[in-house]
Amino acid sequence: MVRKIERVKSIDGSSKYLFNDGKSEKGNFEAIYFYPVDGIQESSICVSTQIGCSVGCAFCATGKLGFNRNLKSTEMLETIAKILEEEKKVEKILETLHPLL
Ligand code: SF4
Repeated sequence: MVRKIERVKSIDGSSKYLFNDGKSEKGNFEAIYFYPVDGIQESSICVSTQIGCSVGCAFCATGKLGFNRNLKSTEMLETIAKILEEEKKVEKILETLHPLL
């Protein structure tokens, strides 16, 4: 089960999350919650699809980890649900997950 390790909140209301897949110390991955801009745009969530990355861009900490594995769709949905819960967007959980169930 995916678990939140850390949430770093930005002054603009967005948050960077660090999660772990619950299976390994090398199972960390990140996600971002983007706060709505000027109250007009909908908030959005950027989720990881992989743990680690094989590309290895020089400026990126994830690239230094190498590729671990692809995340399962259930793990990505868990990530979204946990962020919505943390951001007090609980009413969005069913709205977001309903088409996928
Ligand atoms: S190494 Fe490059 S491609 Fe991979 S996550 Fe980082 S920036 Fe993206």
